[in-house]
Amino acid sequence: MSKYIATRAIRGSNALVTEAEFMLQKALNEKGPDAKVEFPNTAYYLPLTLGMMGLEVETLGQLNDVLEHARKLLHPVPSSRRWTPYLGETLDAGMATLLAAEAIEAIRYVYGLQPEPFPGFQLAGGTAFFGANGSTGEKGLENHLNGPIDDIQLRSWGIQLVDGRMPGFAAIVGAAKSNEVAVKIVRELQKRNILTFLCGNVNGRSIIDQLVEEGVELGYDTYTVPFGRDTLSAIYALGFAVRSALTFGGMKGGQARDILLYNRERVFAFVLALGEVDDLKYAAAAGAINFGFPVIADTVIPEILPTGITKYEHVVSMPFNEIEGNDDFERAERLVQKCIEVRGVKVKIADVPVPVPYGSAFEGEVVRKADMRIEFGGKHSRCFEYLQMVPLDEVVDGKVEIVGPGFEQVASQGSMDLGIVVQVAGRQMQTDFEPVLERQIHYFINGASGIQHIGQRDIAWIRVSNAAAEKGFNLEHFGKILHARFKTDFGAIVDKVQVTIFTVPEKIQEWLAVAREAFDFRNKRLADLTDNKVEEFYSCTLCQSFAPDHVCVVSPERLGLCGAYNWLDCKASFSINPTGPNQPIKLGKLIDPIKGYWTGTNDYAKVGSHGQVQEVAMYSIMENPMTACGCFECIVMLIPEVNGVMVVSREDTSMTPAGMTFSTLAGIAGGGLQTPGVMGVGKFYLVSPKFISADGGFKRVVWMSSNLKETMAEEFKAVAIREGDPDLIEKIADERSAATVEDLMVFLEEHNHPALVMEAMF
Ligand code: SF4
Ligand code: ZN
Repeated sequence: MSKYIATRAIRGSNALVTEAEFMLQKALNEKGPDAKVEFPNTAYYLPLTLGMMGLEVETLGQLNDVLEHARKLLHPVPSSRRWTPYLGETLDAGMATLLAAEAIEAIRYVYGLQPEPFPGFQLAGGTAFFGANGSTGEKGLENHLNGPIDDIQLRSWGIQLVDGRMPGFAAIVGAAKSNEVAVKIVRELQKRNILTFLCGNVNGRSIIDQLVEEGVELGYDTYTVPFGRDTLSAIYALGFAVRSALTFGGMKGGQARDILLYNRERVFAFVLALGEVDDLKYAAAAGAINFGFPVIADTVIPEILPTGITKYEHVVSMPFNEIEGNDDFERAERLVQKCIEVRGVKVKIADVPVPVPYGSAFEGEVVRKADMRIEFGGKHSRCFEYLQMVPLDEVVDGKVEIVGPGFEQVASQGSMDLGIVVQVAGRQMQTDFEPVLERQIHYFINGASGIQHIGQRDIAWIRVSNAAAEKGFNLEHFGKILHARFKTDFGAIVDKVQVTIFTVPEKIQEWLAVAREAFDFRNKRLADLTDNKVEEFYSCTLCQSFAPDHVCVVSPERLGLCGAYNWLDCKASFSINPTGPNQPIKLGKLIDPIKGYWTGTNDYAKVGSHGQVQEVAMYSIMENPMTACGCFECIVMLIPEVNGVMVVSREDTSMTPAGMTFSTLAGIAGGGLQTPGVMGVGKFYLVSPKFISADGGFKRVVWMSSNLKETMAEEFKAVAIREGDPDLIEKIADERSAATVEDLMVFLEEHNHPALVMEAMF
């Protein structure tokens, strides 16, 4: 342990706690102890404080307790003659720093100073989603940085964190040697799909400024989140880490040790300090080390070798100019590689031969009309994609053929018709896997920087940006991407992949007809694929890396609660990886067809949940409902007063008739526990005939978030007809018509909702 680091960290933490105390005193005088304190869109109060102290801070006055505790953690700066190890003291100082930093940010919120103002800045994406009509909803200027991550985003990243698509997160503090190096570092991280949090500055200049100046799109959609231009905002990264443990690990506030260990074992994060490290940065770094997150600096600082708190080294110094390499770009690349090594982040990158950066971090990029070179599909042209299984000898692996002209002749911002036909062959391939693989086209193509893909089948819509076209991106690259990714990700079931891209009208028509016939066939097959027609369901334990006792039981009529895995996906996944997270569950003897009990599912539930769950009812919310991890798309919850259930979507931040928002409800639904009356579900389960069928089915839905009603309008209409009540959806309240149980009762009476006369739910 370095005395130098201990000294500086302890000095930094003393200064910060004192500053926080001073700010709090001032705020108490000006705003009073009852002034409300909160971070937006989270149910976890001040998450770090909640996690470490178990304290639910809601008012300024409560911050007194937080700072008192922080002060107790402080130690005097080591004297010049002492030779004892300082690790314990340094770690305590780190924790004190984090508590004080969170308190200061909370006070800044009271004054409207967070998220940090940044005139002219626009966040990429955020909660924007693609509407049912394919609209992309471009957002206006926001003029501020991101601030803390909201719970919705944390949950929607959940599945990527657990399935390894997002291998970890990096907190960058400071500023890079040059703008070019800043961009290179971030691109290297994006390429590996590592979530990157940006904060801090060196002499007033932040990596955020550098990236904004270079026109790098920052925001949730590009895995790069600008917290703030000072070191303090790094606290949001640790708040995110705490919430991962609370959201997915089923831990409760106050379980400090468990939360820290959880992060050390499961959250692959590190801190990259760019530029000079001051006392406060040392202090904050000491805070991160508590979580098992190592710190890598690109300047000369003393190192801290392994002691067990982090997996490998705690602090690593890699002075930028001394890194081997021909130029700064190579040095930046090596620096990122080092970070990954030190934290032991498992990264897999597909080697995709395209002239633009490639990785999941680019999946969410939006190509705006003004930046567009060309589009396929959308308003002015047609684009379809179709994946077909063919015999092995009919495919030439790696062949990419363009039938028709490229887009070079089309005017800038123009459009053209396009058909993408992917033919795959493999001994393990089955026709049932066609839609599973075809759905991947969306993610694979979107991974290229500067390319935007929306939709599927015959309503696909692809945009190529000017920047990508200038770098030489052309039609052939669609084929190259698809070949590379299908071979890398699905190599166990596809041996050969051939891609043909059509731009001539006759050929497009011809293949569109073939594709549509296949789509029809698949639709019928899916409609036919019911729970009573199969011998086995599938387990999914992917989320156990984060929620150790949770299992999804996936049946043809009930997909996983994250919405990402249906029965066919699980079946394909089992073929690809027979020892992986999706195992067939032989149904065995049917015990109860109404509630959905089989000997096989019950036996599996016990084993899969490590004894936490004894039985699981596939079709009931009231009796032994399925457990939830943290990444559910919706929460279904009983509202006893009206004999029905409400369905709250992850995107809905408004108040529900249960008196809680989604975030608060999620705390009750998650954690791998069975809670009768509460269930996390995938949104397509809502339209399944087996949706809580033991409890009365879809007619029990009395309240539903409006964004669900809108985005799934057609599906719900069909359900209403199936249920024999074509106006059913209009009888269901939402946040616009009822925010309390009283309002809800009035609404349901007025609209004559069927649940009011159904038999009692319990
Ligand atoms: Fe997690 Fe269930 Fe989705 Fe599997 S299906 S990834 S266990 S939520
Ligand atoms: Zn999950």
